[in-house]
This record gives sequence, structure tokens and C-alpha cells, in this order.
Amino acid sequence: MGLLQITGVPFGDTIQSAASASKTGKRMYELRVKTVFSAAHHLIDYPGACQRIHGHNWTVCAALRANETDQSGMVIDLMEFNRLLNECIEQFDHRVINTVPPFDRINPTSENMAKYVYDWLAEHLPESVRMHHVSIAETDSFSVRYTAE
Ligand SMILES: [Zn+2]
Repeated sequence: MGLLQITGVPFGDTIQSAASASKTGKRMYELRVKTVFSAAHHLIDYPGACQRIHGHNWTVCAALRANETDQSGMVIDLMEFNRLLNECIEQFDHRVINTVPPFDRINPTSENMAKYVYDWLAEHLPESVRMHHVSIAETDSFSVRYTAE
């Protein structure tokens, strides 16, 4: 009996420490949606092949975060988040991005496009959620992620 108590106490402490550590860690929900669009662009002031007009099948991923769900257990309807991402991207689909504002004035790099999509979504999402990142991939090998810290 005594032996059981001696071995039981440190074991119990270990479990308690692990449990309290996980309670203090910051937890949240992250929701992601992804879409693909086809468009052409050309880079301005770029000394390489990308200064010539060319196209990509761009993959765009967006992620938002929230601490709480609503009463139905959702942060936001993923269909609505997906609809917003596609509404934003629709502006560029099957177009020359350099002709679509603001990229008629701003170089249509993946960096600038990721920031634009991030800001657009942040403006259109409800205040209960916060944008976390947008990543844009021109190819399987090259992508840019614009992210909150
Ligand atoms: Zn390109």
C-alpha cells in the first residue's frame, strides 16, 4: 500500500503538469479554403522572362482564425468563406491581371496579389473572425504566403 502511494504521487504530478501546460497554451480554430484560377500577367521592371506576358493556373489558399464557435459549433460557414474567396478571385479569372485594378498601377507579383486577397477578405469577413494568411502559388514549386504574425 505504501509503495503504491510513493510511486503514485510523482506519476500523478506528471499528468497534472502536462494537463495544466495544455490548458495555458493558446488554442483557436483555423479554417482554410482553396481555389484555382487561370490568368495571365507580366511583371514590370523585371529583367527576365516574366516581363513577357505569360499565364499560370494560380492556386490560392486563404486561412482565417477565431477563438470561438457560434451556437451551432461553427466559426463561419465554410461555404460562405469559399464564396468570398471566389468572389475576390473572380475579378482576375481568365484575364490579364495587369489590366485589373489595382494591378493596372501595382506590379502583379504573387506578393502583391497575396496581400490584395488578404486585405479584400479581411474587409469582407465578419468581425468575429480574423484573417491569418493567404498563399498564392504560380506553380507547384513557387508560392508566396502573406500572413499575420
Ligand atoms: Zn508569372
